[in-house]
Amino acid sequence: MEKKIPYKIYLEENEIPKQWYNVRADMKNKPAPLLNPATLQPLTVEDLNPIFCEELNKMELDNDTRYFDIPTEVLDFYKMYRPSPLVRAYFLEKALDTPAKIYYKFEGNNTSGSHKLNSAIAQAYYAKKQGLKGITTETGAGQWGTALSMACAYFGLDCKVFMVKCSYEQKPFRREVMRTFGANVTPSPSNTTAVGRKILEEHPGTTGSLGCAISEAVEAAVTKEGYRYVLGSVLNQVLIHQSIIGQEVQTALKKYDIKPDILIACTGGGSNLGGFAAPFMGEMLRGEADYKIIAVEPASCPSFTKGKFAYDFCDTGRICPLAKMYTLGSQFIPSANHAGGLRFHGMSTILSQLYHDGLFECRAVEQNDVFKAAVTFARAEGTLPAPESSHAIKVAIDEALKCKESGEAKTIVFNLSGTGYFDLVAYEKYNSGVLTDEIPSDETIAGYLSQLPKLDL
Ligand SMILES: *Cc1c(COP(=O)(O)O)cnc(C)c1O
Repeated sequence: MEKKIPYKIYLEENEIPKQWYNVRADMKNKPAPLLNPATLQPLTVEDLNPIFCEELNKMELDNDTRYFDIPTEVLDFYKMYRPSPLVRAYFLEKALDTPAKIYYKFEGNNTSGSHKLNSAIAQAYYAKKQGLKGITTETGAGQWGTALSMACAYFGLDCKVFMVKCSYEQKPFRREVMRTFGANVTPSPSNTTAVGRKILEEHPGTTGSLGCAISEAVEAAVTKEGYRYVLGSVLNQVLIHQSIIGQEVQTALKKYDIKPDILIACTGGGSNLGGFAAPFMGEMLRGEADYKIIAVEPASCPSFTKGKFAYDFCDTGRICPLAKMYTLGSQFIPSANHAGGLRFHGMSTILSQLYHDGLFECRAVEQNDVFKAAVTFARAEGTLPAPESSHAIKVAIDEALKCKESGEAKTIVFNLSGTGYFDLVAYEKYNSGVLTDEIPSDETIAGYLSQLPKLDL
């Protein structure tokens, strides 16, 4: 007899995965290496060690180790908010009147409000283990900075966050959560770094940008004894840490013999898509199963659907390493009226290679459609979703409505990467009918792509 599936599938504490999964071990075509911007040679651990934590650098460059043991101290922290529930969206199914079976993994059930804590705690642990005093990072709207400040508080590390000035001033809530957890939060650009002072001199009154905050955070890390820099997405190590999400989904589905047909996640730099889907992609790469996996990105920042698979700089300032990835060009900045996050011009090199090899598809969606889906979901399921996560909701609803037309009862699983409590300014715009979308034209994108570095490779 078929088991009745509960509304929430909870796992036991001892069912939290004990290892992280590295999908590169199962990839025939490995992602292209990061290149040193000065020499154009593949980056080595020695290149990375002055900037990032040593143990994390080993993970970053390891294409072969399939599983890494999760340290006990990190597992202990995970117990505070994991395992996260897999929810059968019975109420959404009913609202849509679809025969599809919809599930979502909810990663927003911690104070930082998103999946980013899964990697923040791992990165803080390795910094502590290396004997560092503290770590530096940048944050835009503040999700990553919040997660990192929680992780640093747990291990007693100093946490210096450079927060894009306009967010620092306009979004005081995350800033105060960070300060409550003991982080030192500086509006960027600031006069605390040479690069910040230079930018302030050249552009007095600037409200900052992510690229500028990165430059300040890196400078603060390399010029201060006992500090290193950490990053919350895009990197291979972050995808490894986030694999806890997809592995928990696999365990929960197995409990009730559920076989998913379609897996969906939003993507900005790729950490939640990679974390949620890579364990399933591994099954596909090993020839054990087949799934339809859909990445969802904003039409206003369409790296996968409109970008080029090429080596490019990871930052606006063109000082960071070159990565071969789907990119819109390092100078591309999405329009300021794009409210839904997912603003990075490039994409994880792992996911870029897998997309290039046809392992999954990608859809670009417009933000009014995203918020419409968010509202449908919130009213049906009672959870206010993050705008980023709502990109996945939009496509999950589209797929469920297709099932309604065809009468197929497909099983759809998506990742609800976070809550929308701190995104109420964006909801306010949507509710007031003033949210617009500025989608870059093909000519605009071609202009940015013509500036890609010309490498003889
Ligand atoms: C940061 C964030 C994302 C996007 O980043 P990825 O690295 O692509 O996962 C998605 N959802 C939420 C809730 C986030 O905070």
